[in-house]
Amino acid sequence: MNDSQQDSTTPIVTLEKVNKYFGSLHVMQDIDLEIAAGEVVVIVGASGSGKSTLIRCVNGLEEFQSGRIVVDGNELTPHGKGGKSLQTIRTEVGMVFQQFNLFPHLSVHANVTLAPEKVRGLNNARAREIADRLLERVGITDQADKYPSQLSGGQQQRVALARALAMEPRLMLFDEPTSALDPEMIGEVLDAMRELANEGMTMMIVTHEMGFAREVADRVIFVHDGRIVEQGSPQEVFDRPQHERTQAFLSRVL
Ligand code: ADP
Ligand code: MG
Repeated sequence: MNDSQQDSTTPIVTLEKVNKYFGSLHVMQDIDLEIAAGEVVVIVGASGSGKSTLIRCVNGLEEFQSGRIVVDGNELTPHGKGGKSLQTIRTEVGMVFQQFNLFPHLSVHANVTLAPEKVRGLNNARAREIADRLLERVGITDQADKYPSQLSGGQQQRVALARALAMEPRLMLFDEPTSALDPEMIGEVLDAMRELANEGMTMMIVTHEMGFAREVADRVIFVHDGRIVEQGSPQEVFDRPQHERTQAFLSRVL
């Protein structure tokens, strides 16, 4: 096979010795990480440990100072240099944030059709078809003509998921997608994410929902002070943590 990027053994995400600073604060320290196609990786760690920065680097929302990041064959190099790669990565990587970040002035439906039309260049009919299918899938069909402010937090987050999926991403990033939700709405968002995981989507998820992580993650990564200090299956990390930092963190959250 000529096109090694399509080789199923090639990781979708590769980080090699990535270092990032905010001023003098060293927030990513020699991060090495490979994520395989279809793998679901949950990142856990205390507040301020660098979880958001790590996933934001993967889609070029943050610059880094040394090392390399390759996403689906597209390379990002230090200091925000990625050029064409950066643009490609942004179309191939979907992201769902803690604050849903929907466009407030657009209807739910228009939130989902916008990027397929503007970025993928699909015609309106095709974009509408995709949006209808995705809104149905996340259970929002009857709210399609409303504006974001008219929806509950759980509904808004499911729209945000549909909007990201409308780009047909190769990889989905989630940064505490349920942390801003009232408890009764957390389940509906986790259900939609679980379904996506079961369909084989490659996912990097920052979450404090340990039950969900245990059930859905292929691998759990524990981050402390900008370093990956421990990783393994949910059973390994949650039931038999080796590192004292992991043990201390888990004793606070479990
Ligand atoms: P987490 O998501 O694990 O809570 P973050 O990745 O948000 O951690 O932050 C890691 C560290 O970097 C924290 O000390 C945070 O205060 C700092 N930090 C994050 N964003 C910025 C920024 N834009 N400028 C300066 N420091 C930042
Ligand atoms: Mg964070």
